[in-house]
Amino acid sequence: MRKPLIAGNWKMNKTIAQTRALIAEMLPGLTAVEGVEKVICPPYLALASAREMLEGTDIGLGAQNLHWEASGAFTGEVAPQMVAELCAYVIIGHSERRTYFGETDASVNKKVKAALAAGLTPIVCVGETLAENEAGRTAEVVGGQTREGLKDLTVDQMSKVVIAYEPVWAIGTGRAATSEGANAVLADIIRPALKDMFGAELSQAVRILYGGSVTAANAAELFAQPDIDGALVGGASLKPADFVKIVEAAK
Ligand code: PEP
Repeated sequence: MRKPLIAGNWKMNKTIAQTRALIAEMLPGLTAVEGVEKVICPPYLALASAREMLEGTDIGLGAQNLHWEASGAFTGEVAPQMVAELCAYVIIGHSERRTYFGETDASVNKKVKAALAAGLTPIVCVGETLAENEAGRTAEVVGGQTREGLKDLTVDQMSKVVIAYEPVWAIGTGRAATSEGANAVLADIIRPALKDMFGAELSQAVRILYGGSVTAANAAELFAQPDIDGALVGGASLKPADFVKIVEAAK
């Protein structure tokens, strides 16, 4: 029932020229896979060029962040409508933004609402740090980020949101969560929080991705889990053959 989604988070990698080259390399492999929603999220400055290259394909485009205000004196920021001119998706609340740029559950909540108002599909990231995990605080942290980040959305709005569970200790470390461990967080923490907030039906309809050192080698095992609906992929999304294999594994 839930269509698998694989999104590539390119982070602060690739110039416009490099973006064009990377898309050209992965496009044939990606377009060949049906039944999976495929999204790439290059840096802002490469989005217009990427848009041109993806025109007429079934590959979606996403930004990695946005501001919640529509316009104004926010030097260096990008407004939701500006993103929506080029993209259908936007990553919100990635742990790197929480850690290095002071994002909070409150700012995530404002961004999710602004993204939805602009017609974008938000991919909202939640996840505990290693210290929180080791202190047995995963349920408190991930449940809290889910509740606060998605606070006051209507059921209709929530039906358009995608969640990505990304344990911070697994991002870029080569140490992915076990497939059972990741699934347990989705099934026992995130979906129950969604059930409390939005009802049983919606809690089962929302797509939840796993992110954190997903590779061509571990993707199939992760996707075999009942609650994992795809992946937010960092490092491996910059390797065309690997990213295509991950998309194929989600089929
Ligand atoms: C990410 O940054 O969202 C991510 C999951 O990175 P990686 O796949 O490199 O761990």
